[in-house]
Amino acid sequence: MKLMPSCYEVQTDLTEYAEGALPLTRKLGIWIHLLLCHVCAGFLRGLRALPGVAKVSLAPPDKAPEAAARALAEVQAALRKNQTH
Ligand SMILES: [Zn+2]
Repeated sequence: MKLMPSCYEVQTDLTEYAEGALPLTRKLGIWIHLLLCHVCAGFLRGLRALPGVAKVSLAPPDKAPEAAARALAEVQAALRKNQTH
């Protein structure tokens, strides 16, 4: 499993992400992507404005604080090596 989905994958899965319908590993990848990618974060904000879509936040997925912290640390380490913004 790769850690970070592409923008295309994130935007494809965002509705299911908002509904909490995705497996945890997938949610985690999308969550990390949303923290780092303002394009997809903006896309999510647009989605949240639609009626019927559950309110989602940029908080870590439930029940995975340790996995989320680990994944985030990996991303931060990668960003230090390769500044993209
Ligand atoms: Zn993106």
